[in-house]
Amino acid sequence: MTDKETALRDEIARLNKIIEVLMDRVENNLSVQSSSYFGLFQSKIVLENQVKQRTRELDAALREIEKMNRVLKESEAKFRAVLDQSPVGIVITEQGSFSYVNPKFTEIFGYGEEELAGIHPIDLALREDRSLVRQQLRNAFAEKIHELRFTFRGVRKDGTTVYIEVAGSPPTQISGHRSIIAVITDITQRVRAEQEMRALQVLLQEQAIHDPLTGLLNRRALEDSLGRELIRATRQRDPLSLIICDLDHFKAVNDSHGHLAGDEVLKKFAELLKEQTRGSDICCRYGGEEFVLVCPRMTQAKAAERAELLRERCAALPFIFSGKLLLVTASFGVASFPQHGDTGDRLIRAADQALYAAKDAGRNRVHCYPGETVWAASQSGA
Ligand code: GH3
Ligand code: MG
Ligand code: MG
Repeated sequence: MTDKETALRDEIARLNKIIEVLMDRVENNLSVQSSSYFGLFQSKIVLENQVKQRTRELDAALREIEKMNRVLKESEAKFRAVLDQSPVGIVITEQGSFSYVNPKFTEIFGYGEEELAGIHPIDLALREDRSLVRQQLRNAFAEKIHELRFTFRGVRKDGTTVYIEVAGSPPTQISGHRSIIAVITDITQRVRAEQEMRALQVLLQEQAIHDPLTGLLNRRALEDSLGRELIRATRQRDPLSLIICDLDHFKAVNDSHGHLAGDEVLKKFAELLKEQTRGSDICCRYGGEEFVLVCPRMTQAKAAERAELLRERCAALPFIFSGKLLLVTASFGVASFPQHGDTGDRLIRAADQALYAAKDAGRNRVHCYPGETVWAASQSGA
């Protein structure tokens, strides 16, 4: 019952009491002074009517208040249902504590309502995100920001991380305290899905530029990188060399030992290339059993030495498949920027021409554009 209701009920009781007392007085007076009987009778009637009128008014006011209370209770029940069944957390926070948390908020963090009453809002954040949360709340209470909107990583009671989005209103006076009402959304699933999506995008981008068998860059990636390196070489007036290599009689490896054996040889040759290249080199599987190595800031003479080292290592590499030893050699063509070509296509064509010269000359050798043998198996004793 409200204070107003109690006051009205008290007034009705008081008036009833007054009527009773006056009626008693009237009856007593009647018996004592019959001469003023008529005057008193009139007073009694007037008084009775006044009291009845006032009682009716008070009853109506009481009914109005009861009706307002009912409406108030219904609307309170409605709001409580909304808060209780809300799919997002709703909190009222004063500086340093929660004065209200809805059930969803307790569910998000795994703490009971009483436990949360004793927890500082900042302590629900992951250690690394606490200064962010502190700053946001400070700015909001100082009304430095128009609206409170940020995300942070929270820690549930069981120690797991939960991603939280906060949307709050400017501070308002609630029960005499400056408070902020905030909507708290658990966005963990969305964040995880975004993280997975980003990882997938990175993977797809990687796949798009890499050869799946050897893990080397593919032809498309080579074209892009070679273009960039040539622009840099031109700008910085640096040399750049390109080595193209092709496994010798590789078809015979497939024919004699099967395609899987051929795959293993390709993978092992790719490993050899990776081992022997510098960080700035671009190493690519150009086609079936053809590979390209781009060596920025490298003269043709140095690149020919590099190619020779690869040729030697390849010839000496024991390719073992199903217990059988396979001996594989490769031929190499070398061309350099700027003397043999100033575009990627021209440089590749020049190196390819040198490669074919190496093949024609008997394979297992290194040729430099325009075709002279630099090193051959016989020279190095291989
Ligand atoms: P050459 O010394 O003149 O280069 O002779 P080659 O046999 O190496 O050259 P050819 O072009 O005649 O044969 C290349 C072979 O490489 C044919 C093809 O089946 C094989 N090849 C291409 N890609 C792959 C692959 O991914 N895996 C396997 N196992 N074989 C491949
Ligand atoms: Mg070949
Ligand atoms: Mg080939």
